[in-house]
Amino acid sequence: MRALLTGLLAACLLAAPAMAGTREDVASFVQPTQDGRLAALEALLKREGLAYEIQTFPGSEAGKSRQGRNVVITIGKGERDILLTAHWDAKVMKDGALADAVVDNAASVVAVIQAARVLKGAKLHHRLRIILFDQEELGLLGAKAYAAGPDAGRVAAVINFDVNGYGDTPFFADPTDPALAKAIRRACLAASEDCLAFGAYPPSDNLAFRKIGVPETSFSYLPAREAHQLWLMFNAGQTSGLPDDFHPRILGLIHTPDDTMAAVDPDTVDRAGRLAVELVRAADANRR
Ligand SMILES: [Zn+2]
Repeated sequence: MRALLTGLLAACLLAAPAMAGTREDVASFVQPTQDGRLAALEALLKREGLAYEIQTFPGSEAGKSRQGRNVVITIGKGERDILLTAHWDAKVMKDGALADAVVDNAASVVAVIQAARVLKGAKLHHRLRIILFDQEELGLLGAKAYAAGPDAGRVAAVINFDVNGYGDTPFFADPTDPALAKAIRRACLAASEDCLAFGAYPPSDNLAFRKIGVPETSFSYLPAREAHQLWLMFNAGQTSGLPDDFHPRILGLIHTPDDTMAAVDPDTVDRAGRLAVELVRAADANRR
């Protein structure tokens, strides 16, 4: 009986059920204002004992200036930085209301905070910076501000997370840098994930770093079929076989009133968090 119980316990641990509180953590970002989201993010970081600074930048919205706020957590020491990033801001919809914006992108924010919790005590060759960017939805403004800032010259690699709310298939922006490409494959193997490379990946904050020549990638999760449909749409051009008016579910969900907690699977968020840990470890093993 005891052997059976031990076996069952081991099976449960292997299945890695959703961590307690993941759903609640993602839901805490559902707020009527961007200020409310920032407060939810700060509350989460305080609870986790993760010290952070807020770096402001000029920013703008609809042609008017609006100060942006990047939230930066620094872990360890090193001459160069690995950045693990996700945007915390929510899309303002056509009617002026703020989307719940949990798939895009509170789920990723929670995933990278879970990774930060694990990596807090890790011995890394690089300094690790977890950055939660603001104003991605306004044109990657937070990431562009950081890429133009004083610490950009220290960045060895950027690993971004955007849209990690449901599904079992991770896919990523295939980096042009061979060392990072290799690290990604090592990390996916270590995390037992079948990661799908996208030559053309939907735009996200990683592009601000591609522009300045820093090795970068961005990760998402979707169900396998949807990930494949998105790949076809972005990569197969005229030969995709998709009807002209077709789009995968995700593109009709983000930036709309349907991006709610009903769409979020906390297991996916936890998986993204575990993959983020492996990605940072693998990128850190590339010493330079
Ligand atoms: Zn996003």
